Amino acid sequence: MAEDAEKADVEREEEIPPRKDVSREEKTEAYEGLPKRSYREMLSDPVGLIFNVRMLRRFVQILFIVGINAYFVASLSGGEAFTAFWRNISFIIPALPILSPLQAPAAILAGSFDTFEREFASGFFPFYTLGTMIIVLIVLGRAGCGWMCPFGTLQDFATLPNRKKIRPAPNTETEMRRLKAYIFIIVMFLAVWVGVSKLTGTSAALTAALGPFAEAAFDPFSPAYILFVAFPSIISRGLWPTGLGNLWYVLQWGWFIPQLIFVIVILAISFWFPRAFCRWLCPAGWIYGIFSKDSLIGIGRNPAKCTPDTCNICEVVCPMNIKIRRFPYQHMHSPDCILCLECKSHCPRKAIVIRFS
Ligand code: SF4
Ligand code: SF4
Repeated sequence: MAEDAEKADVEREEEIPPRKDVSREEKTEAYEGLPKRSYREMLSDPVGLIFNVRMLRRFVQILFIVGINAYFVASLSGGEAFTAFWRNISFIIPALPILSPLQAPAAILAGSFDTFEREFASGFFPFYTLGTMIIVLIVLGRAGCGWMCPFGTLQDFATLPNRKKIRPAPNTETEMRRLKAYIFIIVMFLAVWVGVSKLTGTSAALTAALGPFAEAAFDPFSPAYILFVAFPSIISRGLWPTGLGNLWYVLQWGWFIPQLIFVIVILAISFWFPRAFCRWLCPAGWIYGIFSKDSLIGIGRNPAKCTPDTCNICEVVCPMNIKIRRFPYQHMHSPDCILCLECKSHCPRKAIVIRFS
């Protein structure tokens, strides 16, 4: 399945001739040739001046990072009624196409990938999780990645202070993107293997051999698991390093220190390479991309306004490093688009449009 999807992507890119890569200087000229908004226009739209789509996305992202961990917020503010109510209905709330571990103690929502990985490893076929995931992705595309996923949000914030992002060469980017497909295949192979061995009653030796990879093989590497499961677990056990003795206990705590270093390195890389984890390593993002490529809501370009030979601003600002100009005007069928709308916000000619088709 991984190879088919990649082949389709490559074929699609080959069908459309590559555009000349416009330099940053040319990009500035493209901006300069455009009429600036007059003060009268700006004053006639004060809401638009303060409240644009970029700010709206930041607001929604913060809301979700707090909201997804609402049990923690409720525990601080005496919201036991909310906690009890949500726990009662949580079994009917579907998982969302984001990265959010099922067993995070403070989380009120789980990620589809995290959930079906565990369900496969438990010997169940995840009809409900897969069904709701596919429906959400076909309708909304990967908007969950762009607007809700907590680790996606943290990467966006890590990138914010840096105005000079690095864009790898297209071939390097393509090779790096393959990694998440390979991770997905390995993780799902292990999950199904463990699940089948449980059904046949032969799981004891296998789960012992796989150790921390037996229940959900991606968890030890998942930044969301490290931040929202392992980290709270350290704190709740009173192992927070308030002194040297305590620090020693934390260092003793198996995987945690290398895991924490891994997350810090990913966020540090995101400073130069926006959404580095989503682009190259996230197996959840890879499977979400397969079903979201032809989503009902997507991005298109207005051919009467877009000037692809002299401007590449949409590509420069795209956090997923998508070659937007290579796709047809009508609909940008990229499995990597997270519907963040950065291209729409920055397009000086207002050529990027949201398509419902
Ligand atoms: S690709 Fe990024 S935003 Fe999407 S689920 Fe993975 S970490 Fe979250
Ligand atoms: S194409 Fe536009 S909406 Fe999609 S990820 Fe890139 S900037 Fe965001």
